[in-house]
Amino acid sequence: MAEIRDELFYRQKNGYDTMTTQQRIDMEDYCRGYMAFLNEARTEREAVKLAVEMAEDKGFVEYIDGMQLKAGDKVYRNNRGKSLMLAVIGKQSLEKGTVIAGAHVDSPRIDLKQNPLYESDELAYFKTHYYGGIKKYQWVTIPLEMHGVVALKNGETIDVTIGRDPADPQFVITDLLPHLGKDQMKKTMEEGITGEGLNILIGSIPYADEGSDRVKLAVMSILNDRYGIVEEDFLSAELTAVPAFEVREIGLDRSLIGGYGHDDRVCAYAELKAILDLDKAPEKTCVCILADKEETGSDGVSGMQSSAFECFMEELCDSQNVPLRRCFANSFCLSADVTAAFDPNFPEVSEKRNDAKLNYGMGICKFTGARGKSGTSDASAEVVAYLRKLFAESGVVWQMSELGKVDQGGGGTIAKYMANRNIDTIDAGVPVMSMHSPFEVVAKFDCFMTYLGVLAAYKAF
Ligand code: MN
Ligand code: MN
Repeated sequence: MAEIRDELFYRQKNGYDTMTTQQRIDMEDYCRGYMAFLNEARTEREAVKLAVEMAEDKGFVEYIDGMQLKAGDKVYRNNRGKSLMLAVIGKQSLEKGTVIAGAHVDSPRIDLKQNPLYESDELAYFKTHYYGGIKKYQWVTIPLEMHGVVALKNGETIDVTIGRDPADPQFVITDLLPHLGKDQMKKTMEEGITGEGLNILIGSIPYADEGSDRVKLAVMSILNDRYGIVEEDFLSAELTAVPAFEVREIGLDRSLIGGYGHDDRVCAYAELKAILDLDKAPEKTCVCILADKEETGSDGVSGMQSSAFECFMEELCDSQNVPLRRCFANSFCLSADVTAAFDPNFPEVSEKRNDAKLNYGMGICKFTGARGKSGTSDASAEVVAYLRKLFAESGVVWQMSELGKVDQGGGGTIAKYMANRNIDTIDAGVPVMSMHSPFEVVAKFDCFMTYLGVLAAYKAF
């Protein structure tokens, strides 16, 4: 009787029941690299900078329009330091299409406002406007670091990082003590901590003079000593507070990774590593996108709705006298973004038969969206069948995934912006627990399988 069930039923195995000893060694090796990347790349700018360094180490050069290209050439386009596109030129013409993997390197965080600095009751603070979808109560009483840039009128841009170096101070948003939290605790979790309440504590010593705003003056003078900036320079700054937690192995068995920004640097690293690991010219040209602004809707010059992508691709196509539209029509895109992992602490929002599970491999989302699949690209059955075949042949462990129960909520990725360009696109990525929190959790096995999945797509044909 067992045979007929094996033959007719679809059953998945825990990844650890499928793995060889060598795979386990390779997985640990891969995850060490990822953890180091995640520790260092705390903003989209830092991720792009690090990715460029890694790519140049592997022989990638900045692509300049008009450059002649041959199979095996490795090029990249840095879009304003905030998003990055890399390509390895294939043996076939771009007319035959490309294999694209697109992930995003921006993550939810606490941005400073343009007039951030103020003093209240002899304490100095930064005003903030959060970026992306966050549960605000999670961002108080945790250590924060400050990252970003200050662009000066003279054209110079100053990099700011405070709190990453163990010798640096860090920052915090305070919360009410439970002893006085009676009224607060009656509020909903959405209202308990407000957006305008996310003010970052940055100092308390008054400047030694008689005037007003003495603590504000003292912290401004520290910033002036360290960076040479004055208060007006905040107007043209992009400064952001991110969680200061170290990326760590989680669990007694060390099978999980906890850290800030898995969404979506876990997929960004997978596709970056995959394109850097292409040892010979692929059949089709492989493209790797590290996008910005996904968490705020992919708008803007560095988001996936920007024609910066068309410009890069068109320039590549021009070098082979191929129309861009034909290249796009024959291309295939893995929209590499994280998905929600089933959490046994919150089974009520999930539909177990269709939600992704930790340790079951790369999560494929045929569709995303919310309320009747609204706002999704919904990949075709044929595209899913293609991936089934590819992953079966390449030993990639994967699972079908949907973001929670019907009408429970939903989410989007860059998939629809790629599909709208007439590129067959499907979402694929790592299942995450506590997504969009300051300390997200992923399984090493799923991280490794996502890398193998992108690599298989690049090496196909
Ligand atoms: Mn994402
Ligand atoms: Mn997200």
